[in-house]
Amino acid sequence: MSVEKALAERVILITGASRGIGRAVAIASAEAGATVVLLGREEATLSATYDAIVATGGAMPAIITLDLSVAHPELCQSVAEQIQATFGRLDGLVHNAADLGDITPMEMYDPDTFDRVMSINLRAPFVLTQALLPLLKASPDASVIMTGSSVGRKARAFWGAYALSKFGVEGLTQLFADELKNTSNVRVNCVNPGATRTSMRASAYPGENPESVKTPESIAHHYVHLLSEAARGTTGQSIDLTAKS
Ligand code: NAP
Repeated sequence: MSVEKALAERVILITGASRGIGRAVAIASAEAGATVVLLGREEATLSATYDAIVATGGAMPAIITLDLSVAHPELCQSVAEQIQATFGRLDGLVHNAADLGDITPMEMYDPDTFDRVMSINLRAPFVLTQALLPLLKASPDASVIMTGSSVGRKARAFWGAYALSKFGVEGLTQLFADELKNTSNVRVNCVNPGATRTSMRASAYPGENPESVKTPESIAHHYVHLLSEAARGTTGQSIDLTAKS
């Protein structure tokens, strides 16, 4: 007798699916039975994740290219239309993509970099969620995952716009969760992955031995859990994977 997979029949969109945590979550979601929509800037880098999923026998993914620094409402609407036309449903949305910006004192932080980081890390999850809500509301059990950070809970010197954007993401999670909890089947939670072996981590901590931090693959199952039926009823939570694997 075959056991039903945790994400069987679900369609899940993951931003920043080309590498790091987004790639690992995309692959783990496909392994759990989901059809994944890989969203990112470049088709070539997303194709590597696509190929990895197909090679392991996962459902054929879709690729949507979008630069989240310019995620205007019309472009996000077009993402919704593509998903509606291709799959007719959306059950999960993982806002994973982010830009580290500069690690520098606020006193000398470049305002243009500030705007770019806020656009990718905070404005894009807001606008994309807005555009995709009709599809998510039509799902019998929809899950939105935002991505926070330790510096978005307690600010740390020099983390600049990145820290501010992640404070915003925590608030955005609470707003959507509170507004949707009594009127829909959409749950919204924020995950802080904690130190994880990716290129972003290496940029932020160039002197660190990468082997000393956990891999993206080791935390992907927490995302799968939140995307699955098992997490029904969990909403508005700020989930910390710092000490988890
Ligand atoms: P990463 O390896 O640097 O990957 C970032 C992803 O975001 C890439 O797929 C990148 O795509 C995408 N991205 C960046 N700018 C984009 C844009 N303008 N439009 C579309 N996609 C864009 O980072 P990561 O470490 O996996 O981080 C994933 C999430 O976890 C982020 O939200 C990060 O803030 C959070 N986080 C990470 C850690 C950690 O230790 N790694 C700790 C706390 C929180 P390209 O390939 O096109 O650049």
